[in-house]
Amino acid sequence: MTITAQELQQLRPQEVGAPTFCDHLFEYLTVAGQSRYDESVTQLEHGLQCAHLAEQAGFDSAAQIAALLHDIGHLILDEHAGHDDFLDDDLSHEVVGARLLTRWFGAEIGQPVALHVPAKRYLVATEPGYVSGLSEASVRSLEVQGGPMTAQEIELFTNRPYFKLAVDLRRWDDQGKVPDAGTPPLSHWRHAIIERALSD
Ligand code: FE
Ligand code: FE
Repeated sequence: MTITAQELQQLRPQEVGAPTFCDHLFEYLTVAGQSRYDESVTQLEHGLQCAHLAEQAGFDSAAQIAALLHDIGHLILDEHAGHDDFLDDDLSHEVVGARLLTRWFGAEIGQPVALHVPAKRYLVATEPGYVSGLSEASVRSLEVQGGPMTAQEIELFTNRPYFKLAVDLRRWDDQGKVPDAGTPPLSHWRHAIIERALSD
């Protein structure tokens, strides 16, 4: 591993410059992203498929980056599994990821990522048939994540900025699990990442 999760978390585009920041990020994703997302795809393949779906649907580069990086918290948490000395056990992957992405790119990318798990609970509660299209792993994690939203939770959720984008992201998330799906490589998003990374 050339760059550790801890080093990644300390990385600031403001300090190293956006191109170098992007190099380190891609280096991390290329190595840590080889871990399995589920039976069908790796974490990196999952992120690439989600970003590609966002692009194909005509969404802007912020949505594409959010889709590409929405599960970065999984990579960071997995890497720390077994030495939980500095991470709270109950930090959820979407919170860990959103914290980092907000620092790097702002709320436009951090917030939809923070809400991609609540968005599943929202869709289960509001869309008949949604749950039947979920993967086994998604159904299993739903319980731990709190099950379907209550009416009050739905009201709160739909008042949050970026909730709509979080719901779109959730749909790409559900679809981005196809074995050997052809996607552009990581470098396809390099320009967008450099452009969106906060520089001051
Ligand atoms: Fe996720
Ligand atoms: Fe995901």
